[in-house]
Amino acid sequence: MIFDLPVVSLPIVGSTERFPVRRIYCVGRNYLEHIRELGNDEREPPFFFAKHRDMIVQSGEKVAYPGLTKNYQHELELVVAMKSGGENIAKEDALSHVFGYAVGLDMTRRDLQMASRKKEQPWEIGKSFEQSAPCGAITPAEKCGHLSKGRIWLNVNGSPRQQGDLQQMIWKVPEVIAALSTQAGVAAGDLIFTGTPAGVAACNKGDKLLGGVDGLAEVSITIV
Ligand code: MN
Repeated sequence: MIFDLPVVSLPIVGSTERFPVRRIYCVGRNYLEHIRELGNDEREPPFFFAKHRDMIVQSGEKVAYPGLTKNYQHELELVVAMKSGGENIAKEDALSHVFGYAVGLDMTRRDLQMASRKKEQPWEIGKSFEQSAPCGAITPAEKCGHLSKGRIWLNVNGSPRQQGDLQQMIWKVPEVIAALSTQAGVAAGDLIFTGTPAGVAACNKGDKLLGGVDGLAEVSITIV
């Protein structure tokens, strides 16, 4: 190698070992109330976009308000961390590939995302940018079980901002993994952000974001 690339990793709850990150995928729309608040089609099948692993922010860190946007929004999401994978994974086998779960933020430059959508261009400029993927520690599934219900929430400056329940996910975790594995190989180290409940809104400098899912380690960031 002519130079070394740093390994991006996340802490694991109850362990001194860390989880190395390979790819980051995000589900586009997965909660009805959020689809309605953005005025999108409720019957569309799940679709995916990607972020890069060096866009991860560790919980507790500061996040710089990004350039180019006037509408920088939070999307609090359940994150699935994979320990193995494959292509065309059957729904019934999908959970056997899951290492654990975390809470993440799919930070979004909403104005740029909407503008690229209107022009039928890719979403990169709105979704894939510096520090756009804050993520908390991963809880192994052997500790928390596989999650299909439970509160998912985000507080901004101590006030409730996003609230929902994992039961409201249109596409459940096994369906998300199965669908993703038809379009790309899923493998150990992949993170899948599974979509956000209602309540997305703009962030400002100085905002403190704290989010959680029942049974998992919280995620927190401060916008600076
Ligand atoms: Mn999202």
